[in-house]
Amino acid sequence: MLDKILEIIFPNVCGMCGRINKNNLCPQCKIKLKEITKANIIKVKNKNFTYLAYLFKYDGIIREKILKYKFKDSAYLYKTFSEIIIKNKKMCGFIKKYDIIIPVPIHKKRYKERGYNQSELLAKEIAKILEIPMEKHVLIKALNNTPQSKLSKQERKNNAIGVYKTINNQKIINKKVILVDDIYTTGSTANECSKMLKQAGANEIAVLTIAKD
Ligand SMILES: [Zn+2]
Repeated sequence: MLDKILEIIFPNVCGMCGRINKNNLCPQCKIKLKEITKANIIKVKNKNFTYLAYLFKYDGIIREKILKYKFKDSAYLYKTFSEIIIKNKKMCGFIKKYDIIIPVPIHKKRYKERGYNQSELLAKEIAKILEIPMEKHVLIKALNNTPQSKLSKQERKNNAIGVYKTINNQKIINKKVILVDDIYTTGSTANECSKMLKQAGANEIAVLTIAKD
């Protein structure tokens, strides 16, 4: 339903250059992005998740577009970002190893203000194309804390603690979960969400983001 509404409101444009295009990424931008796209799949230590996967460094046009996606009423950019992820074979191979996709949630008050959760739109599209279930009613944001983007790296660490909780835990017991967020900065959010998912019974967790700072 939301997909249909979004399609009517926003015609298909290339998310990078803004030109109308039947795809979400025009041929010229595709070529340009190819040089900076790399499927990074990193095994991590001392975290509540096992792998971190991302495609871009958080700078240049990618940083500009993620900020736009997040803060400037640009929900349609989920199409471009999910298309880039889905077209990357290595990344798809990795994602398909997981049983369930869960987006990093935003608080309901924030959802009301923004009108969408950027991580959820991304997760939903990836789930649809790769035929993996997406579950948004497991991990929820119970407290409306200060947005991480407004804090220093040091402050972010504590800010994420205790703000997420899980419901419907039976849906993830013994499942391999891929947690989707837009950007990875200090990893505090990803780690805290993963901690909650683990406590709820998830077997293994990987974190997928568009970019890493
Ligand atoms: Zn373009």
